[in-house]
Amino acid sequence: MSVLVVGSIALDDIKTPLEEHSEMLGGSASYGCVAASFYSPVNLVGIVGEDFPDEHVDFFRRRNVDLTGLKIVPGKTFRWSGEYMWDLNIRETRSVALNVFEHFTPTLPPQYQETPIVLLANIAPDLQHHVLDQVRFPRFVIADTMDLWINIARQRLVELLARIHLLILNDGEARQLTSETSLIKAARKLRDMGPQYVAVKKGEHGCLLFGAENQFFSCPAYPLEDIHDPTGAGDTFAGGLAGYLAKNGAEVEFSALRRGVVHGSVLASYCVEAFSLERLKTLTADQIACRYEMFRRLSQFDVE
Ligand code: AMP
Repeated sequence: MSVLVVGSIALDDIKTPLEEHSEMLGGSASYGCVAASFYSPVNLVGIVGEDFPDEHVDFFRRRNVDLTGLKIVPGKTFRWSGEYMWDLNIRETRSVALNVFEHFTPTLPPQYQETPIVLLANIAPDLQHHVLDQVRFPRFVIADTMDLWINIARQRLVELLARIHLLILNDGEARQLTSETSLIKAARKLRDMGPQYVAVKKGEHGCLLFGAENQFFSCPAYPLEDIHDPTGAGDTFAGGLAGYLAKNGAEVEFSALRRGVVHGSVLASYCVEAFSLERLKTLTADQIACRYEMFRRLSQFDVE
């Protein structure tokens, strides 16, 4: 099965306390599609300007990502700039230039419309709705979001929840969206709003997966000594999870989601080892399998 990934494709300027890099490949769809491509075929929908370097398009191509849905239009690519504090869980957005992204309407090529697994990576909820209006009989729809949309497009985001199977968001966003301090109550409220499953990311502390009343899984983050750039960890997590579900094939059940969360966490751990998508460029299937096994043993998961 393949995965449809729709989201932002960006050129990022990123500053951490120790390093600074500019014009790096970024965007929620870039991380999501590359992560998913380690498991399954990927159909990408996104937009970039004519300034978008060919080397990035070649990289997507080398990862076997279908680029029929990638629009390259006159103008500049979306740009985002962020700075991390000593506590790498704390980030400030320095600037955003929407550029060609401002007038982006995601249009699915006909051959994408029946993609079974859909990853609505972080973009405006209106655009996520527009994608769902075009897909036919999706088996499983995953949506990611961010605080910006909770602030400026809350109603459309709430409406989206009724159309998806899994919502991925971080702990602060879960609290903000539900006005609950307890993540358990927040997840229950979110599930009552539509999605069968909710994954709450907690940065370096891992992720909580909630399903029906007796379905709960707490996944730590892989214990890494050196984190160089946390940008895109969440998008990579979502892409790895979506790709794993597509590869797994069968109906999506809680047991498959648990394994998917572990795979997503493994991919995210590789992502943060270097700036931008640099580590994902050299990553191999053997390395993923090796770290998955190590993580499973260290954490004593009862996932196979
Ligand atoms: P994350 O670290 O998971 O929050 O994702 C970071 C990526 O999100 C960066 O590569 C940015 O280019 C991208 N991004 C930042 N702001 C937005 C936005 N408003 N819409 C879509 N993507 C964004």
